[in-house]
Amino acid sequence: MINIVIFGAPGAGKGTQAKLLAEKYDFLHISTGELLRQEVALSTPTGLRAKAIMDRGDLVGDDIVVSLLSRALVNRSTLPDPDSAVDPWDAQRKGIPHRPEGCIIDGFPRTVQQAQTLEFLFSKLQRRIDCVIAIDVPRDELVHRIHERAAVSNRSDDTEDVIRHRIEEYDLKTQPVLDYYRVSGLLVSVDGSGEIAETNGRICQVIDARLKR
Ligand code: ADP
Repeated sequence: MINIVIFGAPGAGKGTQAKLLAEKYDFLHISTGELLRQEVALSTPTGLRAKAIMDRGDLVGDDIVVSLLSRALVNRSTLPDPDSAVDPWDAQRKGIPHRPEGCIIDGFPRTVQQAQTLEFLFSKLQRRIDCVIAIDVPRDELVHRIHERAAVSNRSDDTEDVIRHRIEEYDLKTQPVLDYYRVSGLLVSVDGSGEIAETNGRICQVIDARLKR
């Protein structure tokens, strides 16, 4: 079981890459942004609280994000993965419990405190983070990409002011997470300035090397 954190500023492409990796390696993909958007779409009490915060481009409180993440980690790591190409029910009928061989977390941690929480959650599950892949994209390119995405996205946080604020939040609170993982030796930076496939190739090299160990 390999546990990977995919890290990057808004617009770096972590969601896109995480999805591709989850398909290629049959990894469990957990995106805290997606978990939150699901709550919003379902208008749950959590979703209603989170929506106002996300629409401002602020970070949602750890009480909400950590409980969504830990629920997803515990439930989805032990049950058949509904997103997997393998038919989970068929596998279950045949008595093959389908457990993804790895897990890829995107959107978490976004603060040093969340990084410590993730370590704690993983230690409770007798797991550990194997590597943190940071997708490195120059600032100009990030801004350009988010604006392009905003033109076609229906995300209510993809407006000019909110995008600016999300990047400020990243610089202030999330960027220090890079140093945290650099010090712990888990950080691998990958050039993410090119095409999706190029970046994906670079990330796959990192993962393949880890899987061979
Ligand atoms: P992006 O990386 O483009 O900002 P995400 O889907 O990862 O997109 O996150 C969207 C929003 O969801 C964030 O701006 C924030 O409000 C909220 N969010 C996601 N993950 C977290 C987290 N780990 N902690 C706090 N808020 C989060």
